[in-house]
Amino acid sequence: MSPIIHPPRELKPLSRKLSPLWLVLAAWLAGCGSGTSLPDCDSVRQVVVTDIDETLTTSDAEFVQQLVDPEHDPAMRAGGPELMQGYAERGFVIHYLTARSKTLELTDGTTCEQATIGWLEQHGFPWNQDQTWLDLADAVLGSDDTVTYKSAAIETRKSEGYSYEYAYGNATTDIDAYEAAGIDKTETFIIGTHAGEQGTRAIDGEDFVQHAAEQLPQVPAVCAFH
Ligand SMILES: [Mg+2]
Repeated sequence: MSPIIHPPRELKPLSRKLSPLWLVLAAWLAGCGSGTSLPDCDSVRQVVVTDIDETLTTSDAEFVQQLVDPEHDPAMRAGGPELMQGYAERGFVIHYLTARSKTLELTDGTTCEQATIGWLEQHGFPWNQDQTWLDLADAVLGSDDTVTYKSAAIETRKSEGYSYEYAYGNATTDIDAYEAAGIDKTETFIIGTHAGEQGTRAIDGEDFVQHAAEQLPQVPAVCAFH
């Protein structure tokens, strides 16, 4: 008769008592039937937050120019849409967090929110009701108030159960706000003049092309779309 492998009666310590065969079988059973261990993206809780002005656009002045000239299309840093699409495809919520004020209007009456959404969509950034958020400030803010407003917006979502995995910005207010909201400095990416300051990760150059090519392959999907 061929030998029969019995499951151990005593399970202490488990790793020493179980034969490799049983461990393989247990691992197979654990994965059997699920197909994937990723949760459904309907319940996604991981977030990427990004500033807009001079982070996704090339300069703060671009939006100011659009305010006075509605025909002006704020210039964009290359690679931004592909970077954010890459995160969205991996199941992350994209949180556009800007200190642009809701009270501002373009000279043709377009609201600041409408202009912002229009720009994001026109340039191919992820935008849909379920997987993207846009927060604008209730008023025109100074630097200190910008930090408070941005960190509070993140804290509100965190209190609802969301976690912030990556953050993008260009200003010291972004760095301070992300730090105040508890986002890891090693996952805080800063582009432009303040890149790499205060322990943040510097994005070299003036666009996201190289960063997206390096970063996205290191980011696993956090959920599965059905
Ligand atoms: Mg900015």
